[in-house]
Amino acid sequence: MTIAKHLFTQPFLVQNNQLVIGDVPLTRLVNRIGKTPFYAYDRQLIIDRVTQLRQQMPADLKIHYALKANPMPAVVQLMAGLVDGFDVASTAEMHVALDTLMHSQHISIAGPSKRRAELSKAIAAGITINVESANELETIAQLSAQNGMTASVAIRINPAFELKTSGMKMGGGAKPFGIDEEQLPTVLQRLHALQLDFQGFHIYSGSQNLKAAALIEAQQQSIALAMWLLEFCPNGIKKLNIGGGYGIPYFAGEQPLNTQQVGDALAIEMTKFKVVQPHAEVIIELGRYLVGEAGVYVSQVVDKKISRGQTYLIVDGGLHHHLAVSGNFGQVIRKNYPVAIGNKMHVEQQETVTIVGCLCTPLDIIADKMCLPVAEVGDFVVVYQSGAYGLTASPNAFLSQPNAAEVLV
Ligand SMILES: *Cc1c(COP(=O)(O)O)cnc(C)c1O
Repeated sequence: MTIAKHLFTQPFLVQNNQLVIGDVPLTRLVNRIGKTPFYAYDRQLIIDRVTQLRQQMPADLKIHYALKANPMPAVVQLMAGLVDGFDVASTAEMHVALDTLMHSQHISIAGPSKRRAELSKAIAAGITINVESANELETIAQLSAQNGMTASVAIRINPAFELKTSGMKMGGGAKPFGIDEEQLPTVLQRLHALQLDFQGFHIYSGSQNLKAAALIEAQQQSIALAMWLLEFCPNGIKKLNIGGGYGIPYFAGEQPLNTQQVGDALAIEMTKFKVVQPHAEVIIELGRYLVGEAGVYVSQVVDKKISRGQTYLIVDGGLHHHLAVSGNFGQVIRKNYPVAIGNKMHVEQQETVTIVGCLCTPLDIIADKMCLPVAEVGDFVVVYQSGAYGLTASPNAFLSQPNAAEVLV
């Protein structure tokens, strides 16, 4: 069996040449949905991922899901039964989260531009607001007084340290996120003078990290920072959210993160922290690590042609549904995502093809010069590692092509 060379982690089964998603062979799933392109998320793979992570992490660690990775309501409903809390980044996400059985006490909202109306809704919902600036703190206090409610707040800290080797950094140096740690003593003094329900701290330093050592260091630094700040919190804290950043491998040569190492190191840090704050919850918040590998993006080959020696497969999907596969979502150099011909998984005969989407732009590349089983018009192109930052992270309206469907199988 030869599939694309860099299918390093793909956990899906194959039956009779077909990729199987949640027990359903691909062509049957296509018939069931009635159209392409679509995203399909494998329920069991999400359950397995959370279950495995829990075994590797300290038992009393709280695991939250960051909806921005994949806010599909069915996925969020499933997650509500698997994780301990949700982190949202807009009121639309907040409403998806509140539609589940997750208690509002375990939902928090972050984001650097929360408008007054959003803050009011979050206060009314009773969720924790991660405060991103000294101004925002004052606004929340005013709105609480106006609405006759006491807002639950946590301070989002922009730490002095960075999460090393991270694809995206949200902390360290000058950042629009959170309040610089140096300003915290003053801000905390002000906070204690206001009528607010202080929950604790949120420290989010970065995303998409595959290096256990870098994550371990950031976790240690986050816990040390929180322990220093406790000096300025006479009543202690209830929650310490140390962020996440656990990455998944997307490209050839990338190795999966060793979460066991991260969990073992975290257990040691949590023990130290529990000595001073035995009742505070320690939380990590993860997005892509929980859902990214459980999702595929499926499109159908509409045309096949050769241009000056290069074979093209042209599909009915593209970057308007999946910006990341085209290399235009945070990548510096475009690399191929793992791709397969989902109804020809075991076909031996291969050829080198470039797969492009239906948009009139040379940016719309799904796979560049990739060796895949020989495909024809009507076959299905599957992009792996597509469960996070897919549909909602893409310019859906660009070129006004039809929308993609989404299913949880
Ligand atoms: C983006 C983000 C996340 C999720 O990041 P992943 O890389 O998907 O795990 C979590 N928390 C905050 C504050 C974020 O900005």
